Amino acid sequence: MAKVAVVGGGFGGLAAAARLAKLGHAVTLLERAERIGGALLPVEQDGFSWEGGPTYTVLPAVLRDLFRKSGRPLERELELVELDVLREHRFADGSSVSLPPTRGAQVAALEAMEPGLGTRWADYVHAYADDWEVLRREYLERPWDPARLPPALAARLRKRESLARHARRLRDDRLRQMALYPAEAEGHDPRDVPAWVGVTAYVEQRFGSSVVSGGMQALLGALVARLATRRVDVLRGTEVRDLQVRDGRAIGVVTEVGVVESDVVVVACDPRRLPALSSYVARTMPALPPVMVHLGLAGDLPEMAHETVLHGEPREPTIVVRANGPAWTLLGRGRVDEDLVTTLARRGIDIRSQVVTRVDRSPRDLVEAWGGSPYGVLWQGPRTVLRRLGPGTPVAGVYAVGAHATPGAGLPYVGLSAALVAQVVGPA
Ligand SMILES: Cc1cc2nc3c(=O)[nH]c(=O)nc-3n(C[C@H](O)[C@H](O)[C@H](O)COP(=O)(O)OP(=O)(O)OC[C@H]3O[C@@H](n4cnc5c(N)ncnc54)[C@H](O)[C@@H]3O)c2cc1C
Repeated sequence: MAKVAVVGGGFGGLAAAARLAKLGHAVTLLERAERIGGALLPVEQDGFSWEGGPTYTVLPAVLRDLFRKSGRPLERELELVELDVLREHRFADGSSVSLPPTRGAQVAALEAMEPGLGTRWADYVHAYADDWEVLRREYLERPWDPARLPPALAARLRKRESLARHARRLRDDRLRQMALYPAEAEGHDPRDVPAWVGVTAYVEQRFGSSVVSGGMQALLGALVARLATRRVDVLRGTEVRDLQVRDGRAIGVVTEVGVVESDVVVVACDPRRLPALSSYVARTMPALPPVMVHLGLAGDLPEMAHETVLHGEPREPTIVVRANGPAWTLLGRGRVDEDLVTTLARRGIDIRSQVVTRVDRSPRDLVEAWGGSPYGVLWQGPRTVLRRLGPGTPVAGVYAVGAHATPGAGLPYVGLSAALVAQVVGPA
């Protein structure tokens, strides 16, 4: 049995702690904040509650696997509800499309918007099928060694074409905006994102997207309960300042009240903040969160999809509305130089007189609250994929999970990072 210290109690740290404890290790999770959960934590004010970060997940199989491999199956504790509309896109020319999850339904919805668009989109998305098979097998489900990449994976990861260039083949600005949206939503410039990252559109179409009944708070509650069942020692309000390393191997983590000894350290936060690791990730930058406004609303509200993306004219910001009854969250990307509620009104959704309460959070507030960015590492070209740590790191006994680690940000990928580390560490 190894003594394991997990640094960070966001989804990545929770998932890693649950898996490693089930494998028989003695796990201590250290979280700098007073509350566990990171980006899963809700924001609350005046009786309203909003998701602080994620609201849905693609690839729900990752969550199911986490629950099964750490104890009881997910279905015994949580209900996953498949979205019948992934999101609505509204474009600057006044057209719009509600995007269903399946290929056939996407074709029909886009053909109704303009004949020819549906098949063009379907062909574009389907062209990712082979990439998906290779990525799944060699990158997402198997611990990788960047120095010894299997040829099929190397061929994909080394391609220099950017997502922005790749999406040009769609020959329609609206389809292009749809294709670039997932990368832009996570704070990236599509010119710096490799084309293969667009595989998300294929994954959404093939596996759908789900919300957790009761929201991320329900998921968080189930994970915290799982840690208690597995006897994980949870230290809240405990910031890890550095790792303690002797002869190139980690022997503990340093906190302000002393060293917590361990044989294995799992870093589930931004490794740039830990001096023992920072030099290995010096060439990475965080992908910053958006401008966020949480609104508590009253009165009759327009019917909204779970997520509505309002694309602007070039150089105008993109606004995303995540609506949950009277609790809406606005996320602004691009040049946000006025109140998002005003921009929203100019784009045809005027709820200015219905705002009962609001919480404004700048990207800087968010990074401070989370102790880093839950969007992980900023894409700066195809080589960025080689600069993330994980599952292993150059320091013996230290592993990396979470948004900053391989395979990247987003709940499914963060969940997979924990599965990879559990695979490498193995049973006690
Ligand atoms: C606005 C927003 C919306 C999103 N929407 C979605 C979505 O709909 N679907 C989706 O799949 N993904 C979404 N994401 C991405 C997803 O939420 C993240 O990728 C994921 O939650 C990251 O989990 P994490 O554990 O890596 O990081 P975090 O949740 O950031 O957790 C890191 C934790 O580590 C702690 N910590 C940091 N430093 C230290 C230290 N030195 N010592 C101890 N503890 C430390 C922090 O306090 C924090 O609790 C969204 C992200 C944001 C910001």
